[in-house]
Amino acid sequence: MPPVRGFGLPSLRRNVCPHFYMTGPRGAIPIQAPHLLKGLLRQPSNISRCQLRGGVHLEEGYVNDVCLTPRFNQCVFYEDELTRT
Ligand code: SF4
Repeated sequence: MPPVRGFGLPSLRRNVCPHFYMTGPRGAIPIQAPHLLKGLLRQPSNISRCQLRGGVHLEEGYVNDVCLTPRFNQCVFYEDELTRT
C-alpha cells in the first residue's frame, strides 16, 4: 500500500501522541493515517511502543485511553519540550 500523503489533517494528528509508534513483523509502521491506528492495534502481531520508553510494550488499554486520545498530554511520560520545533 503506498503511503497516503496529505491525508492526516493537523487536527487529527493532535489526537495521537507524537511519541507513539508501532512495530510489526517488518519493523516500524509509519503513522500516516491516525484513524487506522485502532485497527492496527487490534492485530496481535503489532506492538505499541513509546519513543520515550525504549523497549516497553504499551498495553492496549493504555494506548486506547491515553496515547490515541487528545489526553496524551496528561501522560506522565509525555514531554512537550521534545516536540517543539
Ligand atoms: S506512553 Fe505517553 S508519551 Fe508515550 S506514546 Fe503514550 S501518551 Fe505518548
